[in-house]
Amino acid sequence: MRKCLVCEKGNLVKVEDIILEIEGYIFVVDGLRCTHCKEEFPYPSETDKVIDAARKLGVWPEPLKLYRHLSRSGGGLMFRVPVDLEKQLKLDEKTEIAITKVGNKIVIEPKE
Ligand SMILES: [Zn+2]
Repeated sequence: MRKCLVCEKGNLVKVEDIILEIEGYIFVVDGLRCTHCKEEFPYPSETDKVIDAARKLGVWPEPLKLYRHLSRSGGGLMFRVPVDLEKQLKLDEKTEIAITKVGNKIVIEPKE
């Protein structure tokens, strides 16, 4: 059983009902869910299928809206970057980002 990397308390169990919503289209995919914090980790192959399907529906890639939960670690809130965004924007742990508050939105911009 794999431990959850987000809360480090729960175990990751296989689920088949992770819901991804893209522009009003609902996709149900397989993946792992934490028994403690309920964070969901769709399998990358499943995410790719959704991206494919979304492209065919003409609802990808812009605007990209995936729903995520924040998690708490060491007293701070953490935001996990979806893997597909990480790949698209070529991000890694050395990437410097600028965080801007725009109204009630948070804009995260990787620096060149
Ligand atoms: Zn967890």
